[in-house]
Amino acid sequence: MMIKPDAVENGHIGNILEKVTTAGFKIKALKMTQLTQRDAELFYAVHKERPFFGELVAFMTRGPILAAYLEKENAVSDFRTLIGATNPAEAAEGTLRKLYATSMGENALHGSDSDENAAIEAAFHFAERECF
Ligand code: ATP
Ligand code: MG
Repeated sequence: MMIKPDAVENGHIGNILEKVTTAGFKIKALKMTQLTQRDAELFYAVHKERPFFGELVAFMTRGPILAAYLEKENAVSDFRTLIGATNPAEAAEGTLRKLYATSMGENALHGSDSDENAAIEAAFHFAERECF
């Protein structure tokens, strides 16, 4: 998962990590960093033909993010339930995007969408010796 630049700017790192760990996710790795243009283009390559791609890359690179590698039974699906819909206006009450996101573009968190992509994204952010 990533805490995106908007939520970092707005001071929500602590509250988000508290809710994530209370929901039963174990933190295997954690890092505050800033994505380069190339990093963001690679990370969101599946969206490169979409009209919002430029805006998405500009947003994701404008400030630091917090990357976390999480472990849990059914982690991918449970995490997406915890964060809520992509558009915070449609996110369920109590979800992290309902609480912390401001718009469809600036939606506070990223969650992997499959176990396969979670493994790819963990390797993107973390060296093996940074994972516990
Ligand atoms: P993420 O991959 O960041 O966890 P998601 O899986 O809920 O989000 P995706 O469809 O993968 O949603 O879109 C990736 C990101 O692109 C969204 O989180 C959002 O920041 C941005 N995005 C998606 N659709 C739009 C849109 N219509 N307008 C602006 N930004 C969008
Ligand atoms: Mg996605």
